[in-house]
Amino acid sequence: METLKTLINDMFHKDCSSCTNEELYTALLTYTKQQLEAKGYHEGKKKIYYISAEFLIGKLLSNNLINLGIYDEVSDFLKENGKVLSEIEEVEPEPSLGNGGLGRLAACFLDSIATLGLPGEGIGLNYHLGLFKQVFKDGLQQETPNPWITNTSWLTPTEVSYMVPFHGFSLKSTMYNIDVAGYDNKSIRLRLFDIDIADESIVHDGIAFDKKDILHNLTLFLYPDDSDDAGRKLRIYQQYFMVSNAAQLILDEAVAKGCNLHDLADYAVVQINDTHPSMIIPEFIRLLTERGIDFDEASEIVSHVCAYTNHTILAEALEKWPIHFLEEIVPQLVPIIRRLDEKAKAKYPQPEVAIIDGNNLVHMAHMDIHYGFSINGVAALHTDILKNSELHSFYEIYPEKFNNKTNGITFRRWLMYCNRPLTEFITSLIGDGFKKDANELEKLLAFQDDPEVLNRLLEIKTDAKKVCKDFVLANTGMEIDENSIFDIQIKRLHEYKRQQLNALYIIYKYLEIKGGKKPSTPITFLFGAKAAPAYYIAKDIIHLLLTLQELIKNDPDVAPYMKLVMVENYNVSAAEKLIPACDISEQISLASKEASGTGNMKFMLNGAVTLGTMDGANVEISDLVGEENIYIFGESSEQVINHYAQSDYSSRAIYEGNADIRRYVDFIVSEDMLRLGKEEHLRNLYNELVNKDWFMTLLDLEDYIRVKNQALEDYSDREKWAKKMLTNIAKAGYFSSDRTIEQYNNDIWHLTK
Ligand SMILES: *Cc1c(COP(=O)(O)O)cnc(C)c1O
Repeated sequence: METLKTLINDMFHKDCSSCTNEELYTALLTYTKQQLEAKGYHEGKKKIYYISAEFLIGKLLSNNLINLGIYDEVSDFLKENGKVLSEIEEVEPEPSLGNGGLGRLAACFLDSIATLGLPGEGIGLNYHLGLFKQVFKDGLQQETPNPWITNTSWLTPTEVSYMVPFHGFSLKSTMYNIDVAGYDNKSIRLRLFDIDIADESIVHDGIAFDKKDILHNLTLFLYPDDSDDAGRKLRIYQQYFMVSNAAQLILDEAVAKGCNLHDLADYAVVQINDTHPSMIIPEFIRLLTERGIDFDEASEIVSHVCAYTNHTILAEALEKWPIHFLEEIVPQLVPIIRRLDEKAKAKYPQPEVAIIDGNNLVHMAHMDIHYGFSINGVAALHTDILKNSELHSFYEIYPEKFNNKTNGITFRRWLMYCNRPLTEFITSLIGDGFKKDANELEKLLAFQDDPEVLNRLLEIKTDAKKVCKDFVLANTGMEIDENSIFDIQIKRLHEYKRQQLNALYIIYKYLEIKGGKKPSTPITFLFGAKAAPAYYIAKDIIHLLLTLQELIKNDPDVAPYMKLVMVENYNVSAAEKLIPACDISEQISLASKEASGTGNMKFMLNGAVTLGTMDGANVEISDLVGEENIYIFGESSEQVINHYAQSDYSSRAIYEGNADIRRYVDFIVSEDMLRLGKEEHLRNLYNELVNKDWFMTLLDLEDYIRVKNQALEDYSDREKWAKKMLTNIAKAGYFSSDRTIEQYNNDIWHLTK
């Protein structure tokens, strides 16, 4: 720690004990960056370039200290000087470079790529104001800018700069690096491209700004509102800026290593994370033909470099851009895309696989599939659905391109960092081999009948709930009880994830308690979720939750037995506090709609028991832990897909045919609720549920209530519950992102370490 001591002295001319937490944060950041640089970077002939619109990396200080293997040393040094690392960490702003699971997956993947020693880079954009910061006011979500770039940050500017041509003008880029440390290994880099004249001052009234002022707005926000054409076009500007920089960087790096461009696939493999980076395919072809390679060979080269990951079967998320938008913004790509489309159509004339459809929309995913060499889904069920229904026509053409890569999470952040007491306890039982080989967690099964171990597990959970309680108090001002059951649903707000289903259960429970049926153990229902700014139903659901929160809090008959807490501005830092404290993990999406989920994996690893549908990776969790150790409800994905095919689901029929369900739904617009909430929002949601309910909330409500009641009842047998917890932890090894990345490498990337 001598270097750190000297550094602190050089920077602030005083010793550690006299420094403020802000000063110490700055010193630790500088120190950590130096350590990372000194350790070096993974290099190799062939590199994986993971291109993604989002990287939800979370705070980096502690994570880097852990991966560098100096966390305890630094923490002890600070303690000796009267300082607390976790308090210093509070100074660090969380980078706001992602929205949800897709961005968090990209972050976990970088951690695993570095840990496994693979040469790679992440490539994305440096959004100054992030997605948005969520604040609640009058029971509604409001969006404000989320600035996170401070003077001393993890970003390191580089000399790398490119010109990106748009119709009528060009934009100069600057590349920034963020080092991503491997656990007990060298680092890789996250490359974030930015414009030099991004102007935060053009933002007003929350997150409003002139969407046409591309020169100043390009890297302000992730996912600018696309409910109008200007917003949609801005997304195209952003996407092209990202991929043009990426393609130029990749070609430069390859050439610097001796690549002659004909052999590009020996130097680079590009993983296209969802469709946002898809324009890299025509951009590569543009750059290769500019450098003298003919079109057919260029498209052949690219087809050996690019691989595509599909993250969703929701139609709204499979991007389709009007060709005239592309003509207006990136006209240089349009002849290339047209030619790619013609080539594909000559071989495969069926309209459902066209790149450019009859309405002149460019289907980005279709371009990826025709001109990439691999397409993967993100959980076994999801990949099966892609093959058998959503992308069936493509599967018939290219069966060899389809493969599954079930998502994973990095155990460094989601266990070793966020739950140190549990990590230490596990280490005391089975040693620390699990830190490098997650499958070793299975050794815990030897303790499943050991009452001492089970008791200690329960104690650790209660301690985590106390930590969470402080977080919740600071975040919301609400007091929660660490002896209550923590039932948690934290994830983006979306109808398919069905937070509204959970809300209807809470209404049911409220009415039960009002009727005198009190639960044996009090329950705390925790939520955290951001709604996309133009997604009105999602915002209505937030309003429902916030209104219920008020109602329950102020009702003395009910408040002692249940609480609803909606955490504000859910992000990685909040997740790190909530997940270790969870008893029941809510994974209740409509079957077939959640491609994988990764929250489900984080919860399981931290000893929560899943309450979920047979959707996404829940199916694999269920196979691993067995039906004793998970609570499954609801209709299967096959049944759901059938309902859509037959158009035979009617929420109104269920509503009218079931008096109980009618009572819960009616409660949304009851006098009690209208007194506290806003009629317009509550009535909109009520109407949506009764008349449309596209994601079939009412379909599974009865079964959900039944199974959730069973879980809450089972919780009382503490020893039996602890055994479920232990089994979940022991079986979580499969969901390490190290396993996922090994599979990407073995089946798709073929890199050598
Ligand atoms: C893991 C994570 C997600 C993804 O959660 P799902 O339940 O899989 O949708 C979203 N946001 C944050 C901050 C996360 O850490």
